[in-house]
Amino acid sequence: MYDIAILGGGPAGLSAAMTARARGKSTAVISNDPAQSPLWKADKVDNYPGVPNASGKDLLELMTKQAKEVGAELIQGRVTSMMDTGDGFMLNAGTEIYEASAVIIATGVVGAKPLPGETEYLGKGVSYCATCDGMLYKSKKAAVVGRSADAPEEANALKEMGVDVLYTGISKKRPQSLSEEIPYISAKKIEVVGDSTVTAISLDGEPHETSGVFILRETVAPTALFPDIAMKGGYIKVDKAMKTSAKGVYAAGDCIGKPLQIAKAVGEGLIAALSAVDYLSKK
Ligand SMILES: Cc1cc2nc3c(=O)[nH]c(=O)nc-3n(C[C@H](O)[C@H](O)[C@H](O)COP(=O)(O)OP(=O)(O)OC[C@H]3O[C@@H](n4cnc5c(N)ncnc54)[C@H](O)[C@@H]3O)c2cc1C
Repeated sequence: MYDIAILGGGPAGLSAAMTARARGKSTAVISNDPAQSPLWKADKVDNYPGVPNASGKDLLELMTKQAKEVGAELIQGRVTSMMDTGDGFMLNAGTEIYEASAVIIATGVVGAKPLPGETEYLGKGVSYCATCDGMLYKSKKAAVVGRSADAPEEANALKEMGVDVLYTGISKKRPQSLSEEIPYISAKKIEVVGDSTVTAISLDGEPHETSGVFILRETVAPTALFPDIAMKGGYIKVDKAMKTSAKGVYAAGDCIGKPLQIAKAVGEGLIAALSAVDYLSKK
């Protein structure tokens, strides 16, 4: 069990990790492939003090190196759900489960709005994790909504588990890495349809019968991650100490609001870590 688990290895999460380690706390940063993060795509960052003209990639690599050097554990994975166990938190990332006494959410902005039916059928046929829930759909139909770089590989893995997979993406061209055995449909308007559980996916108005819908994005909406968390204007609601509405859960960076800038994210990561350390000292 870690003292502090940090979700997201961007500037906010890495800054939080450095402070947590400076206070002697065991710290894990669980994050997606850094190459998929928004900062990685910034050609030039010219407003972060002390590192003029760095690329986003350079900056992220420097921050990651620094967090590792002070003893933070960097784990590659996407956290799809989080549960309060009473004594701490359990985090699911693929087939792995991590436990921590306190959590800092630093997952950046969630660009996409939920699909119609997504929230209603979450856990009733809608899933964000193919490796976790794939076996539930063995010999059944499941649709994959591909919105992340690794979605085709996840769909291939489902196929190998014996799931009858249909893949849908935005692009007119099917992804190169998608198995040829998996049918591909390009669709812009997607809806999850069901009664008590998922029964179909509607693609540009055309229904396709299915028992499951895997929606694979780089990020998971905070409320899907942890339904107890309060939001304000589309961002996680926090106080000045970066405390969320859930005990033991803190948040920092773009996921708590504007301005969406590195310097702000770094400062908030530090405050969130100090607050989490204070919480642990009183636990
Ligand atoms: C093209 C571009 C250029 C930019 N240029 C500048 C600039 O010049 N100056 C500036 O100050 N800002 C710039 N920004 C904004 C800056 O990148 C963000 O404000 C900053 O990265 C926010 O840091 P963060 O840690 O809050 O979130 P992020 O950097 O978004 O990091 C969050 C990380 O968490 C991961 N993650 C999300 N959900 C999960 C999950 N469920 N499980 C595991 N990992 C997860 C994400 O993949 C990501 O790696 C730019 C952004 C873009 C896109």
